[in-house]
Amino acid sequence: MTKSDLMALQDKYVLGTYAPTLMLVRGQGARAWDVDGKEYIDFTTGISVCSLGHCHPAVTEAIQRQAARLVHVSNLFFNEFQPQLAAAISRHSFDGRVFFGNSGAEANEGLIKFARMHGSKNGRHEIVCMQGSFHGRTLATLAATSRAKYREGFQPDMPGFSFIPFNDVEKLREAVTDKTAAILLEPIQGEGGIYAASHEFLLAARELCDRHGILLMYDEVQSGMGRSGRFFAYQHHAIEPDAMSIAKALGNGYPIGAFIVQRKHEKVLGAGKHASTFGGTPLACAAALAVIETIDRQDLLTNCQEMGEHLRGALVQLASKYPTIKEVRGRGLIVGVEMTVPVADAIKKAAERGLLILNAGDNVFRFLPPLNLTKKDLDEAMSIFDTVLGDL
Ligand code: PLP
Repeated sequence: MTKSDLMALQDKYVLGTYAPTLMLVRGQGARAWDVDGKEYIDFTTGISVCSLGHCHPAVTEAIQRQAARLVHVSNLFFNEFQPQLAAAISRHSFDGRVFFGNSGAEANEGLIKFARMHGSKNGRHEIVCMQGSFHGRTLATLAATSRAKYREGFQPDMPGFSFIPFNDVEKLREAVTDKTAAILLEPIQGEGGIYAASHEFLLAARELCDRHGILLMYDEVQSGMGRSGRFFAYQHHAIEPDAMSIAKALGNGYPIGAFIVQRKHEKVLGAGKHASTFGGTPLACAAALAVIETIDRQDLLTNCQEMGEHLRGALVQLASKYPTIKEVRGRGLIVGVEMTVPVADAIKKAAERGLLILNAGDNVFRFLPPLNLTKKDLDEAMSIFDTVLGDL
């Protein structure tokens, strides 16, 4: 089929909730190719998903092997990989117990149900959320997402969510009432523009939760799995949550999400209280296990920290050349460049020149390259970005 045949099918049959521009057909490491054979450096990684790069051989091998052995059995049966993956997630975060689903929104739905169940014995059901947050597109996760635009037309919003300015300790203290069940936040806000939670804010949130017997919940869907240079972004602060959601890079592109709760909360969601048909299949868990083993074996956290420093260094240099750059922020390889102007056109121009990058809001470029990025690919990407900024 030709590209135009495929575009016609897309236009006719795929619901138009997205507005894709390029048709990518192949990927390898930090590179991707479109249907016309044009090559790109991919600093979008499927929006923080393919953190080992496209088609990493260890993940491809795990998927191929498991696809030929056992794909799905339902959670009516044990499978070999789910317990191993749960143990690996726990080992890389905190000693807890894991529930598996398929996406970030589903993981956050689980967190919300967990918080309501935990609070139900004391009449607590409300969740304090952050301005600038993004937690997904299902009804409950939308209600926890601050951007009103995403909720337009879907009202009434699910009740029980309030918002405070991110990193505002005073407002957080005021927001917690006898109805509050949990505080939910991203340790590094992704869609909201790459803003990291301050140490002081996380500490205050932890103290408040301990004092009131309520839950501190982190959404590490975008910031987790090594992206910030630590396995989870909260580990930069060593302030543990009661529960945490994970998805995106967990399967390096194979869909899988999860949430983990501290062991002391293991009874909150007991038998029959939550379920997902496709949650934690042998295939998904085998893929995710290969991801975690690869991050460890190849010491990708160190590479992420080093490349992150190079990336931010290069961007800070560009900031001294281009006054349109307002701020460079982020950690590891989740990096934002706030501009004084909208970035949409520049993102298109970068793609024309062979570099794929994202936005995070109207004025922020978002860089999410793979964790095994090489200095050579980084330098090439920065040279393209330099040219694009020069053309602005
Ligand atoms: N939480 C965060 C922090 C995210 O960035 C996203 C997606 O961008 C989600 C949740 C939703 O994940 P999904 O699109 O897999 O449902």
